[in-house]
Amino acid sequence: MHPSALARPRHSSPPRRFPAVAARLSTTPLLAAVVLAAMALAACSPQVHTPTLNTGEVDAEAKIQRELVVRRSTELQERLYRVSWNIRLNNAELCGERVFNALGFTLLSLDDYKNKGQRKAVQNVLGAHARATVYLIGPGSPADVAGLKRGDVIMSVDGENTETKKRARELLAVAVKAGRPAVVEVKRDGELSAHTLTPVRICGYPVHLDRSAELNAFADGDSITVYMGMLKFVKSDDELAAILGHEMAHNTQKHRRSKTVNAAVGKLLIDLPTMLLLGVDTHLGERMGAQMFSPQFETEADYVGLYYTARAGYDIHNVADVWRRMSVEYPQAITLVTTHPSNSQRFVGLAADAAEIDKKRAEGLPLVPEMKDAQAKAGAAAPKGAEAEDDPLPQAEK
Ligand SMILES: [Zn+2]
Repeated sequence: MHPSALARPRHSSPPRRFPAVAARLSTTPLLAAVVLAAMALAACSPQVHTPTLNTGEVDAEAKIQRELVVRRSTELQERLYRVSWNIRLNNAELCGERVFNALGFTLLSLDDYKNKGQRKAVQNVLGAHARATVYLIGPGSPADVAGLKRGDVIMSVDGENTETKKRARELLAVAVKAGRPAVVEVKRDGELSAHTLTPVRICGYPVHLDRSAELNAFADGDSITVYMGMLKFVKSDDELAAILGHEMAHNTQKHRRSKTVNAAVGKLLIDLPTMLLLGVDTHLGERMGAQMFSPQFETEADYVGLYYTARAGYDIHNVADVWRRMSVEYPQAITLVTTHPSNSQRFVGLAADAAEIDKKRAEGLPLVPEMKDAQAKAGAAAPKGAEAEDDPLPQAEK
């Protein structure tokens, strides 16, 4: 209570007569309405006797459904990891200094799951253990070459016991950062075996999955995020590779940084003088700057990204079909140019890009995008890092 309320003189309160009667009068219609509503709802209850369900059967069905969730989630994650691995590995030399060492596999552990039913499902379907368990493996990666398999339980790394996933990751990271081989001891079907994994260099742009159903993907300059909606929308590995190639090109071409610089210039040249004249910051110059060249950046990402896609061994001739299907979802984008080119421009542009790549292939030329200057060709200059092994997990039950 506020102290001033105590100091308030009594006569300032409105006079009340027969408060009990007044309260009864106001609650009676309310009470009647509630009773009537309850009666009406009861009248709408189901009118037939449905069979009584056997709880054992319901539990067994819940188990089946949980396992289906794990299988479907793993299928999608596996595709994303596999295609990302190919794109990142085969374009390392075009990522300038922005390359990471990597072993090409991810881990999971039963401890990642709190829900008891879900833990059981992950155990049954993926062979997950309380220790670090091998989950996704990149094709031709050091982990693949060394013979690791999904469900392998990691017992030690470089001779040190790895009781938890955290410990296994720490020990693997030491070897990965140093770029030296790691000896991984695993247990598979009760048998122990040791595998030597030698890191390789891949583009230093990790790929993350966002659970949102939105039809989208984006690059933030350091990594790539693909939405679940997009992952389900693509019909082939080729299409997914083109999406990932496009996003990686935004990063290698430093589009985000250019947008930030343009926004700062807009702020300086438009917003500051306006602020001095009118005393208000409209942010108009900042917004205009951020969107400057935006459609051109998209066209550039399509062009460079298609090279990345081709270099990773994917078929680039049908990937533009994504833009036709996208127009079925968003017809206004067929001709509308916003911060992005129209979908029809993108379709035709990708066909021209594919023709250029085909010609280079036919002539035996290296598959490298044509850049305006040598600096852009060299790619981003960033410190060499070590790949942080991320663990895409089957969807958690809410
Ligand atoms: Zn884009």
